[in-house]
Amino acid sequence: MKHVYLDNASTTALAPQVWEKAQPYFTTHFGNAASIHAFGQFTKNILEESRERVATLLGASPSEIFFTSGGTEANNFALKGFAFAMAQAKRPFRIISSQLEHKAVLESLAWIKKFFGTPLLFVEHDRRGTLNLESLKSMLRHSDSQTATLVSIMHANNELGNINPIEDIAHLCKEYGAFFHTDAVQTAGKLPIHAKAWGVDMLAISGHKFHGPKGVGVLYLRQGIPIEPLLHGGSHERNRRAGTENYAFAFMLAEALQLATESAADTASHIQILRETFLSRLEQHRIDFEVNGHATHALPHILNLTFALDEARKMAADVLILALDASGVAVSSGSACTSGTEKPSHVLLALGKSEQEARASVRVSFSKFNTATEVAEAAERTATVVKRLLSASSTATDEPQSHPPS
Ligand code: PLP
Repeated sequence: MKHVYLDNASTTALAPQVWEKAQPYFTTHFGNAASIHAFGQFTKNILEESRERVATLLGASPSEIFFTSGGTEANNFALKGFAFAMAQAKRPFRIISSQLEHKAVLESLAWIKKFFGTPLLFVEHDRRGTLNLESLKSMLRHSDSQTATLVSIMHANNELGNINPIEDIAHLCKEYGAFFHTDAVQTAGKLPIHAKAWGVDMLAISGHKFHGPKGVGVLYLRQGIPIEPLLHGGSHERNRRAGTENYAFAFMLAEALQLATESAADTASHIQILRETFLSRLEQHRIDFEVNGHATHALPHILNLTFALDEARKMAADVLILALDASGVAVSSGSACTSGTEKPSHVLLALGKSEQEARASVRVSFSKFNTATEVAEAAERTATVVKRLLSASSTATDEPQSHPPS
């Protein structure tokens, strides 16, 4: 049985070209980019060229690009670094975000709230996950001139694919003098990003979401934004993030981002076909499901489905995912950080889904490396698994229970 990988919102395969080009940076060229000798200067150049490439691709200046260990660190750096800067300046601050954010943002905000006592407000959304900008506006309006406001709203949602109107939000923040951070981990390499022109203050991306390596990310930090470093030590990354620079991963991130950005339109058309193939196969089998999230303003590679499995009242958190895995289809139950914890997705619950509905939901996510044939095969297997679970649950409900479960 050939396994089909449809969990590309969780992580993607490294692009072979990226790996080939980077190999000398793991072997022949190994100097510490902070050293002043020729070995160090060679790798320093690789690092700085990568920074320039990333800056161009994100619509920023090289001095505004900081390499990190990934999206989680880039988000932590932005949010906690800002909070520490406010505390140091003894300026009161509050944060406005959304309950649909990734845990890397939500947990950072929860920590800031606990540690600093920061007021934390959440923008309203509807049951498709569309943010209510009027609610954001009214929160922005109700502020005093002493208190700084940080707004943190993601570019696109990692579970639903919903694309948020980032330019409009940046515009509102500017109008009300608020700082604006966005988690663009799911959109980098897929949608155009113009950080400076949009007026975003902080923007996070992660290499492994666009066929780069795991363990490298970027924080775009607009010139002059107050931020304290989280890592102290050497003067790396212009005194903002101490630690020997991983020029090889910085190079791979830049290379992968460029490849993804250049082929973004072709990839999106290919993925649209995969998405339609998957959906139409399920429909042919008369599988009852609902597509979660926004119907049109969404990334095509993320497909979040709730199956009508309500009869299976006792279905445990990962039953559906494990049954699909056993049939050779790798999908997830939300974000990778949520799966494995046996908890239903916080995003689906925030949309008003019941625990049972959230447990009967999967996130299927495609990449340019998936073929229509394997996606059709995966849909066939999914239909079989869902039918089996449905018949198992109806048998279970029909049968009178003579003994309580031991
Ligand atoms: N933000 C979003 C929207 C994500 O989807 C992810 C990864 O799942 C992250 C942040 C965390 O990125 P990383 O895995 O690079 O730490």
